[in-house]
Amino acid sequence: MRRDQLRALLHQAPYDAMVLTSEISRRYATGFHSTAGAVYLSAQQAVFFTDFRYTEAAQAAIHDMTVRDIGGTSYAAAINALIEQDGVQRVALEDRTLTHADYTTWASALHATAMRLEDDIEQLRVCKEDDEVGKIVAAQRIAERAFDEVRNDIKVGVTEREIAARLTYLMLHYGAENMSFDPIVVSGANSSKPHGVPTDKPIAAGDLVTMDFGCIVDGYCSDMTRTVAVGYVTDEMQTVYDTVLNAQLAGIAACKAGVSGQAVDAAARAVITEAGYGAAFGHGFGHGVGLAIHEAPIAGPRGEQPLPAGSIVTAEPGIYLPGRFGVRIEDMLYVIEDGCIDLTEAPKTLCVL
Ligand code: ZN
Ligand code: ZN
Repeated sequence: MRRDQLRALLHQAPYDAMVLTSEISRRYATGFHSTAGAVYLSAQQAVFFTDFRYTEAAQAAIHDMTVRDIGGTSYAAAINALIEQDGVQRVALEDRTLTHADYTTWASALHATAMRLEDDIEQLRVCKEDDEVGKIVAAQRIAERAFDEVRNDIKVGVTEREIAARLTYLMLHYGAENMSFDPIVVSGANSSKPHGVPTDKPIAAGDLVTMDFGCIVDGYCSDMTRTVAVGYVTDEMQTVYDTVLNAQLAGIAACKAGVSGQAVDAAARAVITEAGYGAAFGHGFGHGVGLAIHEAPIAGPRGEQPLPAGSIVTAEPGIYLPGRFGVRIEDMLYVIEDGCIDLTEAPKTLCVL
């Protein structure tokens, strides 16, 4: 139970209770999605406070915490009653997601000494449980189904925005709760911008089209990128595509529990550098994915920590030639003791539409 893992944190931490206020932490703790609420957790009590709009649904969905409607009182007043019952001296607040003003307001309102929770919950979220992996895979399958269909729509004259809209529609149609982020669809010279925004530019013959997209199932995100060609490819485009794919495969081969994110990045980067495109790969190899689209661990040059078994990271090298074209290919990897499992099933040979 998530509640018990959170409680295990309390045993090791210098605080006796925690108050979770961010949407992601509340959902992680309760499994319930709401736009308002707070979780109070101590050794004695686990309570999810929310308001009238969510109380009935929360009571039906949450079984290992008490659900209470805050009614006409404030969250801080409701939580203070529990702090007093439990004799809590130090309470941890989510300093990473609260604004400075909100942190200060909470800290002065609560009848215990406020402490920073820092990244304790994010660290707990790094290793995915089976049900979490299942939700990420379900989201990925929906994205792949959408990709498979959208390829029929990629034609000369269709705009980037139309393709982005179609991807969004298809993912929702196949059961996504939402998008992980606004889909990126960039073509031709626009494809050299790693996070370019889809425009009204029509697709032209000879364009590479890079699509980076993902969706959410039960709170969990997927993330994938594919680059396809329209009409024909030049030898240089094929060389760049093959280099990116080989770099990705080298990173995947290096990825296993205990290896640092930095080392995985370096394995992929070496392939791109050897091919002479080192300066054209300006971002990291990958990032963790889960309830948030970007979360720990880091699989890039700043990733000094070893990747733990059970974490999920993306594998997304790219080469971007400004004013000309770009290529990125992205899968999601589930890190295990002796390697990793590629959770992405969409084909990676360069598809010419
Ligand atoms: Zn992506
Ligand atoms: Zn990504």
